[in-house]
Amino acid sequence: MSSQEDRFKPYTRNSIKNAPQWKFLDTDQQQAVLAISQVLPFRVNAYVLDELIDWSNIPDDPIFRLTFPHRDMLPSAEYEALCSLESGESRETGAALVRNIRLGMNPHPAGQLTHNVPHVNGVPIKGLQHKYKETVLFFPSAGQTCHAYCTFCFRWPQFVGMSELKFDAKDAASLVDYLKEQPHVTDVLITGGDPMVMNTKSLAGYIEPLLIPELSHIQNIRIGTKSVAYWPQRFVSDADADDLLRLFEKVVKAGKNLALMGHYNHPAELRTPIAQLAVRRIVATGATLRLQAPLIRHINENPQDWAELWTTGVKLGAIPYYMFIERDTGPRNYFEVPLAQAYEIFRKAYQQVSGLARTVRGPSMSAHPGKVVIDGIVELGGEKVFALQFLQARNPDWVRRPFYARYDAQATWFDQLRPAFAEDKFFFEDDVPPGHPGILLPTGLHHAPAPSARHATDLIAVTS
Ligand code: SF4
Repeated sequence: MSSQEDRFKPYTRNSIKNAPQWKFLDTDQQQAVLAISQVLPFRVNAYVLDELIDWSNIPDDPIFRLTFPHRDMLPSAEYEALCSLESGESRETGAALVRNIRLGMNPHPAGQLTHNVPHVNGVPIKGLQHKYKETVLFFPSAGQTCHAYCTFCFRWPQFVGMSELKFDAKDAASLVDYLKEQPHVTDVLITGGDPMVMNTKSLAGYIEPLLIPELSHIQNIRIGTKSVAYWPQRFVSDADADDLLRLFEKVVKAGKNLALMGHYNHPAELRTPIAQLAVRRIVATGATLRLQAPLIRHINENPQDWAELWTTGVKLGAIPYYMFIERDTGPRNYFEVPLAQAYEIFRKAYQQVSGLARTVRGPSMSAHPGKVVIDGIVELGGEKVFALQFLQARNPDWVRRPFYARYDAQATWFDQLRPAFAEDKFFFEDDVPPGHPGILLPTGLHHAPAPSARHATDLIAVTS
């Protein structure tokens, strides 16, 4: 099925000038791409350029915003400094500037690098994260890139060569050894980057070891992927697309639930015939495909877009899963939406869809203590509050316990919320899960003024 046109053709900072569409960007837009891509990852491909971006609508086209950097993603002083680098600062000065800007963007949100890595005999296991009791995340080294990069990417340090902030595993051996000792783990999430950048043979090398009888407790194998949106050819016309589908069938036949966690930011990503065919081919293998994405300013603030995404997905056989809140990392100031607005956008979208699309949950924050969903904005005892609960938590006992935070129209992340009703802490702050050495909370979770959006990286341990 493959043809010349179907071959994957990426463009990076070094080659984007060769893309036929480069001439559609005006000088300022071109400068923004070249300046900001010194700090943040930039990669796009011919399918995104040819099929997904409406060039008559740039710079406001959502997929253009999703893939092409904008100058306002950085404070103007940083932006100007990067632009002046272009015209001849020394290499050392440039490297120092780029590094400082990166370090100011909270490169390891929710403490994931330091606090979710499991240890065996005191030695950290590279490329694994184990935050929630039943789910282990696995980062195969060959899957630590994407077919195109999102401008808001929350895993951006993985792609920019900050080697001390990279976490990946060369093979599945340590994962399998770890899982054998963890009978309560039911789910493995293979993630990146995008594991679907691997060819089928390499992917099979990571997945097939999970099918052995000693790992019968692993019921669900999840794969986090953006390929369904950025390169649906992976499931349709790539040279080994059919082999990939046979691999999916093999996993299903082995008695596992194979769930693709499809990252779709906008309904435009599901409008092309090849994207729709990809969904049909995936679900025909017996695998499931779930739709999830963060809510991002400039890209998907319109409730109608979410309703279209979920409705189209259901029609094709996919399952709406999550609307997330943009994470507290990278150029978040440019992309974040206040929690109060996010709640209203979710509600308006949810009201428009049938019960089959109401499998979706949100808006949800993947914060350090767990996944916190905003259930409502209500008035209780004369106080306007956010009604919250954990959908997932470090301590399973916290899940689905309603709790309340003072209403704050400006708040954009969990660490900016304060307990309601004059409480001095949230219920979970003194609570330490059995056998857990301590709960790690962002410094000054509520005791200090809300940290500035870009610098809340310090952590303290709260122990019993
Ligand atoms: S698909 Fe995910 S990991 Fe890849 S660039 Fe987008 S947000 Fe980042």
